Amino acid sequence: RPAGRAGRNTELPEHLKAYKGVWVFIEHDRGHVHSVSWELMGEARKLADTLGVTVSGVLMGGPADDLELYAKEAYTYGADRCYLMRDPVLQGYRNEPFTKGLTDLVNSHQPEILLLGATTMGRDLAGSVATTLGTGLTADCTELRIDGRAMAATRPTFGGSLLCTIMTLAYRPQMATVRPRVMAMPRRDDTRSGDIVEMTLGMVETDIVTKLLDFIPDATRNTVNLAYADIIVSGGKGLKTAENFKLVWELARVLGAEVGATRAVTQAGWCETERQVGQTGKTVRPKLYIAAGISGAIQHRVGMESSDCIVAINTDPNAPIFDFAHHGIVGSAMQVLPVLTQTFRNH
Ligand code: FAD
Repeated sequence: RPAGRAGRNTELPEHLKAYKGVWVFIEHDRGHVHSVSWELMGEARKLADTLGVTVSGVLMGGPADDLELYAKEAYTYGADRCYLMRDPVLQGYRNEPFTKGLTDLVNSHQPEILLLGATTMGRDLAGSVATTLGTGLTADCTELRIDGRAMAATRPTFGGSLLCTIMTLAYRPQMATVRPRVMAMPRRDDTRSGDIVEMTLGMVETDIVTKLLDFIPDATRNTVNLAYADIIVSGGKGLKTAENFKLVWELARVLGAEVGATRAVTQAGWCETERQVGQTGKTVRPKLYIAAGISGAIQHRVGMESSDCIVAINTDPNAPIFDFAHHGIVGSAMQVLPVLTQTFRNH
C-alpha cells in the first residue's frame, strides 16, 4: 500500500474523513447467529469508544431469517444500530449477492472499520468485498486497537513465528477478520436498544451464477465442537503411537471433555484434522486445557494460550509448554493419563 513508512505520520486524506463508525458483519445460519459476531461486537465497541464513534451491525438474509430478533441481540452486545438487508436471493449464503449487498452498504454509509469472523463464510465474503472496494484486509487478527486515527491489526506471520501489525492508512474502510474464540465474549446488557436502517439489494435470481440446490451438513463438523468446549484434553506426539492416543479419549470421556491434538498428531492420522488446535487449526478458550505430550510450539500455543487453566504433562522439564502452563506435571503421559482417568472416575 502506498501509505508505507512515510504514511504513518501523514494526515488522513481529505476524501477519507467522511468514513465514520465501526461495523460488524453479523453471520447467521439456519436460525443461529455465530458467536464470533458477538465477540467482534465487543471488540467493535472498544474501538468505537476510543474513536468516539458508533457501532453498527450488518444483517443480511432471506424472508425466513428473523433479522429483527438478531438485531435486538446485537444491541445487547454493544451495537447502536443495525443495517438490515432482506431479499429472497439472500436466503442462504452465496458470495455474489452478499458481496454486492455489503459493498453497496459500505459505499452508501462509509464505515471506517468493517469486521468479519474468520469463518468459512466470513473469509469468503471479506476477500471479495475488500477486492471490490479496493481496500486493505488483514485476515486472522489476534489483536485490534486504535493507533491515531487508524486501526492497528496484529496477526501471526512467517509460519506463526512472528507477529506483525498492519495498518490501512490510505484506504477505507479498514477491514479485518478474526477467528472464533480469539476475542472474549462481551457481557450482555439487556437494557440496550438501537435503531434499524432497512436497505434493499436490487438483484434478481437470474443475475446470480451460483444456485443453492440443497444444504448437506458435514456430520464430522457437527460432532467436533472444539472452539466452544469448556474442557479439552489434547494429545501430542509425545504419546508416541495411535494406540497410546486412546488414553486421551479415555480421560476426555470421564471429564465430559472434547479431544484436541497438535498438528503432528493430526498429520500422523491419530485423529481427525477437525481436532487440531493452533494457528492452522482451531482457536480454543476452555476453562481447562490438559496438554499431554505436547511441546508447546508457538503454532500450537497461539490456538490455546487464552485457556483459563492449562495443565501440561511432559517428560521434559524444559519443554516450552511449561513456560505458559498454569500447572505442570513432569512425567510420562502414558503413566499420568491413566492415573487422572482413574482418579476422576472415582469422584
Ligand atoms: P513435538 O514437538 O514432537 O513434541 C512432543 C513433546 O512430547 C515433547 O515436548 C516431548 O518432550 C514430549 N514427550 C515425549 N515423550 C513423552 C511422554 N512419554 N510423555 C509426555 N511427554 C512426552 N502445530 C499445531 O499443533 N497446530 C497448528 O495449528 C500448527 N500449525 C502450524 C503451521 C505452520 C505454518 C507450521 C510451520 C507449523 C505448524 N504446527 C502446528 C506445527 C508446530 O510447529 C509443531 O511442530 C507441533 O505443534 C508439534 O507437535 P507436538 O507438540 O505434538 O510434537
